[in-house]
Amino acid sequence: MRWSERQRNMLAEMGIRVWASEPEAVLAEPADEVREPEPVVVATRRAAPPAASPVGAAPSMPAPVARPVAGNVAGSRPEGVAAMDWAALREAVAGCTACKLCQGRRQTVFGVGNPNAQWMVVGEAPGEQEDRQGEPFVGKSGQLLDNMLRAIGLTRATDDPARQVYIANTIKCRPPGNRNPEPEELAQCEPFLIRQVELVQPRIILAMGRFAVQSLLRSNEAIGRLRGRVHRYQGVPLIVTYHPAYLLRNLEEKARAWDDLCLARQTFETQTPGAA
Ligand code: URA
Repeated sequence: MRWSERQRNMLAEMGIRVWASEPEAVLAEPADEVREPEPVVVATRRAAPPAASPVGAAPSMPAPVARPVAGNVAGSRPEGVAAMDWAALREAVAGCTACKLCQGRRQTVFGVGNPNAQWMVVGEAPGEQEDRQGEPFVGKSGQLLDNMLRAIGLTRATDDPARQVYIANTIKCRPPGNRNPEPEELAQCEPFLIRQVELVQPRIILAMGRFAVQSLLRSNEAIGRLRGRVHRYQGVPLIVTYHPAYLLRNLEEKARAWDDLCLARQTFETQTPGAA
């Protein structure tokens, strides 16, 4: 692997294994996790007045705008998401019929982890396994994500908020056939993610994949152009990286993803008061 000396030193200091050498089980990607190729830039934003733009989002980018969706079953998302507590928010997500994705889901996929976690990972949308189990990142992408997190000393399975991540998706329902989420679907789901971030109050956010990044940063730029620097979302440092499903198809990009993880770890340590 092509680690720089700085990276190797950091690895050694953190006493961690390199996830790129994890078992080859993560190399095969089931068809149901395949989405469109990561680096493609799509203009999903419409020229519309920004609505409830999150603090720290680039002001020049218009917010996603929800329009009535053809075939929408009810178009209803409960009012007052912005003031909900965890229980109310979970219930609101579970009952949401604001877009047509509700028609095909087995269940919604809310999020997982310590609600006081200092790290937050934002992915894209549930795949088949997540739709079955109701938890984000439990398929092949999830195995890789767990390896990546372990490499920087994090896990979804601990009570220690400094080591635990809260994992949420941009979209809470599985798009049929794992197609890409549509702008309307992203727009309808966005308030839920905004509220999750407000409730977790993470000290750092790792945004994985183009839909998470576009949603959080209001940017249509490719991941490759956004990664490598520290962004802000609601005042929280945000690091952009490739989606695990993309890495499963593009193994050569793992080195860049490793750089992103190192940047996240470093940012957490230098910008977070009291971080280890
Ligand atoms: N990909 C995601 O972005 N989220 C999941 O929960 C599973 C796969």
